[in-house]
Amino acid sequence: MEVLNPRSVLVTGSNRGIGLELVKQLVEKSDPPEWIFATCRDPEGPRAKSLKNLAAQHQHRVEIIQLDTSDPSSIKAAAAKITECLHGAGLNLLFNNAGIVKSSSLESETPENMLEVYNTNVVGPMVMGQVFLPLLRKASKDSLLKGMSCSKAAIVNISSDCGSITNLLAWDIGQIPNYRCSKAALNMLNRCQSLQYAQDEILCVALHPGWLQTDMGSGNETLRAPTTAEDGVQEILKTLAHLSEKETGTFVNVDGKLLPW
Ligand code: NDP
Repeated sequence: MEVLNPRSVLVTGSNRGIGLELVKQLVEKSDPPEWIFATCRDPEGPRAKSLKNLAAQHQHRVEIIQLDTSDPSSIKAAAAKITECLHGAGLNLLFNNAGIVKSSSLESETPENMLEVYNTNVVGPMVMGQVFLPLLRKASKDSLLKGMSCSKAAIVNISSDCGSITNLLAWDIGQIPNYRCSKAALNMLNRCQSLQYAQDEILCVALHPGWLQTDMGSGNETLRAPTTAEDGVQEILKTLAHLSEKETGTFVNVDGKLLPW
């Protein structure tokens, strides 16, 4: 049976929601990664309190690092710190998880919303891939594992079924063109990354995490996501254990089934 056992993991937007739950479940595994780089844009702010508490319980494994995915200089500074922490080792698993949405309809949508969300949800993951490529490449090269896997070297782009042109999850609940367009573009970015990084055996997958109870997933009182972040992340980690070169470049659901573009 395939297992997920990367030696090092980086999560963006790890101070709350799915990102925080990813860090929690990874560090609480029976065979946790040696290094978990829990990145967030404001480590000293009130929204990082839960992450700080978690890191305090796992001092040698969870390293909190400032990283704003909408700011390339912050990504580069984080990469420099992480390279130092890794002492010559590579980075096995990168979660491009940070994401934003601006409540809107097609009628009320604005150029500012469109650009801000695109910058965070698409440009951020693109720069992350570029800047962390040397570390991902190193992990892949140093690994004894055959083929592609999330234990060896992988980019997991947390996408959304809202960006599926076929499925259009929850159109009746929220049109949110800024978000839908950004996730459709993220899926294309994932495909591009998979083509370019295949030579280094770096798996790239766009993953819909399910509709989960987080600040984003349960944006207002009338909107309650069906699944807890805890259950959703459990399923994500199970699915990631099974991914191989067959899935690189694809758009998969939390249960591992392929989703239509
Ligand atoms: P939340 O709104 O709960 O959390 C979003 C996280 O992203 C926060 O940690 C936030 O940090 C961080 N973030 C936002 N912008 C930036 C930035 N520029 N740099 C660094 N971090 C940033 O959302 P979820 O946890 O629900 O969502 C996580 C991912 O999952 C997103 O990509 C989302 O699109 C996707 N997703 C979620 C679904 C759901 O049902 N929840 C469904 C489908 C996809 P801060 O606290 O600083 O704002």
